[in-house]
Amino acid sequence: MSDSKTALVTGASRGIGFVVASTLAEAGYNLAICGTRQETIDQAATKIREASGVEVLASAVDVSDRGQIQAFVQETAKHFGKLDVLVNNAGITRDNLSMRMKEDEWNAVIDTNLTSVFNAMQAAIKPMMRARGGRIINISSVVAGMGNPGQLNYCASKGGVEAMTRSLAREIGSRNITVNAVAPGFIATDMTADLGDDAHAKLTSQIPLGRLGEPKDIAAAVAFLASDAAAYITGQVLHVNGGMHM
Ligand code: NAP
Repeated sequence: MSDSKTALVTGASRGIGFVVASTLAEAGYNLAICGTRQETIDQAATKIREASGVEVLASAVDVSDRGQIQAFVQETAKHFGKLDVLVNNAGITRDNLSMRMKEDEWNAVIDTNLTSVFNAMQAAIKPMMRARGGRIINISSVVAGMGNPGQLNYCASKGGVEAMTRSLAREIGSRNITVNAVAPGFIATDMTADLGDDAHAKLTSQIPLGRLGEPKDIAAAVAFLASDAAAYITGQVLHVNGGMHM
C-alpha cells in the first residue's frame, strides 16, 4: 500500500470534477476518476498525470447504474489498498416545467444525481471503516436551498443529497468518517454554457460578488473538506455561491 492518500472523484472528465481531481492530485492524492466515456476520461487522466505525477485510475462508469458505481468504488479500494476520500460530483440536468416534466426526465436526474450518491457512499463506507477513517464530500447546488423554476427534478435530487449527507454523518461519525456537501452557486462550466446574454446578466445582478464562480472556487472548498484542517467538520453544507443565497 502506498503512503499517498487516495481520492475517487466521479464526473471528472470536465467541468468542476476535473478541476477537483486536478487540485487533489496537486495535493498528492492518487486518484480514481470516472465519466461516461472512456476516451474523455482517459484524456483527463493523462492531463492530470502529466501535471502532477500521481497515479490515476480512469474508467467509463455510469454512476446511475448501481452495479457499475459500486464495482468502481470496490476496484479503487482494492487497487490502492484504501479509499481516503470520495467526491460524488457527477451530475446532470433535464430541465422542464413541472407540468410538462416527463417521467424519464425525473428518473434520469434522480438516478444520476441522488441514487448514485447513496450507492457510492454505501460501497465506500466499508473500506473507510476498515481504515478507521475517511472523508465523503457530495456536490449539491445552491438551488437545493432556493428552489428554481424548471428544475424540480434537479432541486429534489440536490435537496436529497444534502439530507443524506446529514443522516450518514450522524450514522458514521463514530467511525471517524466525515460526510459533508459543497453547494456551488452558478459556476462557468458546460452545464451553464447555454445561458443567453440576458439570463447571464440577470443572474450576475443577483450575485453580490457580481460574477459566476469558477470550478477552482469549488475545488478549493472540496480540498479543504478533505484536508486534516477539516477533521472536526461533519454533516455540513459549505456554500460557495458568491453570496447569491444567504
Ligand atoms: P458538467 O460540466 O456538465 O460535467 C458533468 C460531469 O459529470 C462530466 O464529467 C460527465 O461525464 C459526468 N457525468 C454525467 N453523467 C454521468 C453518469 N451517469 N456517470 C458518470 N459520470 C457522469 O457539470 P459541472 O457543471 O462540472 O457540474 C458538476 C457537479 O456540480 C454536478 O453535480 C452539478 O449538479 C453540480 N453543480 C454545478 C453547478 C454549475 O453551475 N455548473 C452549480 C451547482 C452544482 P461525461 O463528460 O462523460 O459526460
